[in-house]
Amino acid sequence: MSSDFRVTLLGTGVPIPSSERFGPSTLVEAGDQKFLIDAGRGATIRLYQLNIPIGRIDVQLLTHYHSDHTSCLPDVWLTGWLSSHFGTRKAPYRVIGPAGAKRLMENLERAYADDIKIRIADEKLPPSGIATDVAEFDRDGPVFEKNGVKVIAFEVDHGDVIKPCYGYRIEYGGRVAVFSSDTRYNENVIKYGTGADLLVHEVAMAQPALMKEAYIQRIIGHHTTPYDCGRVFAQTQPKLAAFTHVVQLASPQVPPPSLDELRAEVRRAYDGEFIVGEDLMSFEIGDTVTVKRLMPR
Ligand SMILES: [Zn+2]
Ligand SMILES: [Zn+2]
Repeated sequence: MSSDFRVTLLGTGVPIPSSERFGPSTLVEAGDQKFLIDAGRGATIRLYQLNIPIGRIDVQLLTHYHSDHTSCLPDVWLTGWLSSHFGTRKAPYRVIGPAGAKRLMENLERAYADDIKIRIADEKLPPSGIATDVAEFDRDGPVFEKNGVKVIAFEVDHGDVIKPCYGYRIEYGGRVAVFSSDTRYNENVIKYGTGADLLVHEVAMAQPALMKEAYIQRIIGHHTTPYDCGRVFAQTQPKLAAFTHVVQLASPQVPPPSLDELRAEVRRAYDGEFIVGEDLMSFEIGDTVTVKRLMPR
């Protein structure tokens, strides 16, 4: 049975400018509404590949302010406003995020003021479509509710100075999708992840030979190892767990860990179903969670 609750990983990557894994961004479609969680590099390209007008996004959710999660934000905002079929937004661009969202959008409005002025004068684009409607939050709880969709933000732990950082739990039609955002092993993910049909979690790994490097330890310390992800999955028991934001650390001497090595680490702690996400992999959340791959392999 097909469901109208669908999650699509637009970008499963990290700051590496990879053509295979674009920057972190996830599309959530629930009934007639579309949500974008973060807008990493290439999010607009992936929406275009899906034939979804960029201006059709109802709500932009932000998790935190690392640039790999926001670098495509101006593109979603500005290109979504164009009158071409891939743009079409006439209502203000709605953004919900932790403290910092307002500053970010105000500064983008300043940075692109000339473009906005020119397009209003030249292309007669509606000023309402480039306006922003930004809401900030500073604690766990519901941040959006409309037409049967409830979005709940929950704080995660991305490191002592990388604050604020929040994950999201999205409920629709009795189903639940949970997104960890960037975090190390964190009880709040377990609290809000419990009962999820789909749990989308970040992961980071390096070969043991690389783990002695201080900068590698710092990076790993901001994220969740595959073994700890396995512990999270074992405690939350989602119908399906999926990895995004796949960090496979390497150096000129030490190659990145393979996905098989990553899977083996998860298996030490978890025997349920999980999948390593790919760009344009989608999950239809019904009685079961159905995986589809839209990217030619
Ligand atoms: Zn981050
Ligand atoms: Zn990140």
